[in-house]
Amino acid sequence: MTDKPIATVARTNEILRRYDLFARKSYGQNFIVEPGIVEKIARLCRADETTAVIEIGPGIGALTEQLARIAHQVVAFEIDQRLLEVLAETLSPYSNVEIVNQDFLQADLEGWVQKLKQNNDQVVLCANLPYYITTPILFSIFESRAEIPVITVMVQKEVADRFAAQVSTKDYNALSVIVQYLYEVRVVMKVPRTIFNPRPEVDSAVVQFEKRIPERIAADQQQFFSLVKGCFKQRRKTLLNNVREYLQDREKAVRAIEGAGLDLSARAETLTLDQFLDLYEQICQLHAESCEKP
Ligand code: SAM
Repeated sequence: MTDKPIATVARTNEILRRYDLFARKSYGQNFIVEPGIVEKIARLCRADETTAVIEIGPGIGALTEQLARIAHQVVAFEIDQRLLEVLAETLSPYSNVEIVNQDFLQADLEGWVQKLKQNNDQVVLCANLPYYITTPILFSIFESRAEIPVITVMVQKEVADRFAAQVSTKDYNALSVIVQYLYEVRVVMKVPRTIFNPRPEVDSAVVQFEKRIPERIAADQQQFFSLVKGCFKQRRKTLLNNVREYLQDREKAVRAIEGAGLDLSARAETLTLDQFLDLYEQICQLHAESCEKP
């Protein structure tokens, strides 16, 4: 039995039975029971024998096992204490895996990445995320200063679509613009709900974030992100209405929008990243005193 991958239905059921385990909904536990899928995710995450992988939520070790086969080192954060003895057994053939019993949101990601970079050329992140905290987890990674060039995660399909959404589509929103400013975003695999135990109510997708070197940089990133959020605040309102509210000044809003070569009656969802940057730069010019130059 032990030579079968953990992600097989037979092996997963055997492990759950032997440890008298049930999936804990409050921790978003849906275990993958399709070995082909975990192998493919591990192959996609850009790990190799010179790479360390950080995983969030190893569960009973299905994905961890495949990562351990490819990568030089794996560090996996698991919140559920019940899984520690399970993982100690299922991952015992792999000496390159370290399990950390901690809520990932409390982890010192930057410190871990620095430490792992001492023995590895690069550190990537790969996970089948617990859906109840997908966005907080991803934003804790995006906002940390940890050097992680590629992030490959399984999330709810709708969430993946929003991150990767193109301009002028229904899914395009402030989150899409902000994330695409920081990363190249691609949905690399669609995953049906049928490959999980227990089966969730939604389909999933694997989304990959690859750090991009932006051609244009906002002088103040947080200020730029808050403008983008302001532009989408009332999705059905015009850009002029949203920018006016954001700036608390109609005249400045008109000057900034026109200065950026945009239509006053445009809607935020029709603006490309470059157009948001044009608008931001116009606002910076109007507020020259409060904006640092890049
Ligand atoms: N990787 C396994 C797989 O693919 O079969 C399990 C994935 S399951 C969707 C999510 C995992 O994340 C569970 O093991 C759960 O206990 C763990 N988890 C939930 N919240 C967490 C948190 N805040 N920090 C670390 N792990 C967490």
